[in-house]
Amino acid sequence: LDQTGPAPIRKLDTTVINRIAAGEIINRPSNALKELIENSLDAGATSISVNVKDGGLKVLQIQDNGHGIRTEDLPLVCERFTTSKLRVYEDLQSIHTYGFRGEALASISHVSHLSIVTKQAGTDCAYRAHYIDGKLAPPKPGASADPEPCAGNPGTMLTAEDLFYNIPSRLKALKNTREEYNRIYEVASRYAIHNSGVAFTCRKIGAPKADLNTLPGATTISNIPHGLWTKRPEFSFRGYVSSATHDMSKSVMLLFINHRLVDHTPIKRALDALYSGVLPKSSKPFVYLDLQIKPEHVDVNVHPAKREVRFLHEDEIIESYAIQTTLVKGPSGELAHEASNA
Ligand code: ADP
Ligand code: MG
Repeated sequence: LDQTGPAPIRKLDTTVINRIAAGEIINRPSNALKELIENSLDAGATSISVNVKDGGLKVLQIQDNGHGIRTEDLPLVCERFTTSKLRVYEDLQSIHTYGFRGEALASISHVSHLSIVTKQAGTDCAYRAHYIDGKLAPPKPGASADPEPCAGNPGTMLTAEDLFYNIPSRLKALKNTREEYNRIYEVASRYAIHNSGVAFTCRKIGAPKADLNTLPGATTISNIPHGLWTKRPEFSFRGYVSSATHDMSKSVMLLFINHRLVDHTPIKRALDALYSGVLPKSSKPFVYLDLQIKPEHVDVNVHPAKREVRFLHEDEIIESYAIQTTLVKGPSGELAHEASNA
C-alpha cells in the first residue's frame, strides 16, 4: 500500500499530449504513407511517387503534382487540427475528401523530421520548410525557421526522416525494414488499383527500378499485379451424366476437348471427387463431357497419341462453379448446360 497518498493531478504538456496522439494515429511507416497518399489525392494529383529508405524508417518521401500548399499556410500546416478541407461541423455531411481532421501532418511531424517542398501552379518558385513537433523548425542549428524559396516542380514533396526517432519502443518493434517496405508497397499498389487515372511509382531509394510503376492512362485491370489477377478463361461445355440410381460397377468418363477424345487426369480426379460426395458409396457415374476451349489455349502435343492434352487455366476451368454445380444438380440426363463464363 502506498502510504504517501495520491500523487497530484497535473495537466500534461502539449508536446506530450501531441506525441502520444501522434503515436496512435501513425503507428508504422505504411500508415503514414496512407495519410500522405490521401493528401496527394485530395490535392488533385495525377502523379504520385513514393521513395523509401529502410522500410520508411530512415526516409519516407512522397512527391505529387497536386495543387500545392499556399506559402502563407506553411507555418500552420503541421499544427494539430489545421485543415483546408473542413470549416464548420455541417461540412462533414458533404465531405468529398479523404482528410478533414487536420491531424496527419501534425502527427508525422511529432514523430519524425518532416520537410515540405511545395509549389503552387502558376507561381514562380517553390518553398521549402522543416518541421518539428508541429512547428516550423530551422533545417540546422542557427539557421532561420522560415520557409525558404527554392527550385521545385509544381506540387508537393513531403519527406519524413527518422520516423519514431523519439519513440524508442516503437522503433524497436519495427526492426524488420523488409516487412515495413512490403506494407508500404501494398498501400501504394492498392491505391494505384483504385485510382487508375493516377500514375503511381514506389521504389527503394537507390534501387535501379521502381517496384510499382503504373501509367497515367492505365486501366484498373492493368494496375493489378500479374499473378493476382488471371483473366477468366473462356470456355463452354455440355454433357450428360448418369443418375445416382444407375448402378455402374466402374466409372466411365468420356471427355472430349474440342472434339478430341482425350484423357485428362486432373479432370478425371476432380469428377471422381465431385461424385464421391453425392453418389452412394457403391455407385459409379457415367459422365460425358464435351468441353470447348479456345484452340490457342490447348496444347495437344504433349502425348504422341494425342491422348493427353494440356490447356491454359486448367485449374480455373476444372474448379469452375458452373461445371461443379451443373454436374451435381440434376438426378440424371442431359446437362445441356452451355456455360460460357467469359
Ligand atoms: P487533412 O488531410 O485532414 O486536412 P492533414 O494533416 O493530412 O489534414 O493535412 C493538413 C492540410 O495540409 C490539408 O488540409 C491540406 O490543405 C494540406 N496538404 C497536406 N498534404 C498536401 C498535399 N500533398 N498537397 C496539397 N496540400 C496538402
Ligand atoms: Mg490528410
